[in-house]
Amino acid sequence: MQFRLIIQTLKPYLPQVKDWINDLLRQHSPLVKPLSDFTFQRLPKYYSRDLINSTKIIVVDKIPMIPLADMGLIQFGNFEKLDATGVTYLNTIFVRSDCQKEEWLYFHELIHILQWRAFGCDDFLLLYGLGLFQWQDDYSKTPLEVMAYENQDIFQKFNIPFNVEGKLTFQIERYKTLIERLKNPTT
Ligand SMILES: [Zn+2]
Repeated sequence: MQFRLIIQTLKPYLPQVKDWINDLLRQHSPLVKPLSDFTFQRLPKYYSRDLINSTKIIVVDKIPMIPLADMGLIQFGNFEKLDATGVTYLNTIFVRSDCQKEEWLYFHELIHILQWRAFGCDDFLLLYGLGLFQWQDDYSKTPLEVMAYENQDIFQKFNIPFNVEGKLTFQIERYKTLIERLKNPTT
């Protein structure tokens, strides 16, 4: 299916997806801990203090995934059945309890926080959905995940700090242009 058509197909689902996310965050709000409580040593060398201080963490036994099929979105393969180690909604990272000490997981999810911030809720969801539509069960190939996995790989292999936000700016700008173009059917 053409990218623009996929975006038009996904758009009407945005309100219920956003409601679901907001309900989820409200229900879990008593469990929120600030990321700064976790005293990771490497993260502050890659991310700004502002980002680390404003990120919320919720540790759970099972990662809550958006119930896409129940909402009528049946085109995404088995994504929602994934037994993920973590997921990020807006400024909140859900972490599976057996992985709560894994710094690489927070490193990965912080990239998603930067993406949520840069794209805004609607465009983040549309871009993620577009990727899933295209890659089905191979979600790690979707553009927003590729950004996260590539850098996570560097984080795990090398102990050489870099400014993640600065590095991603160019890529994020490119995708912003793309999504704007796809949302506007006349250009
Ligand atoms: Zn990810």
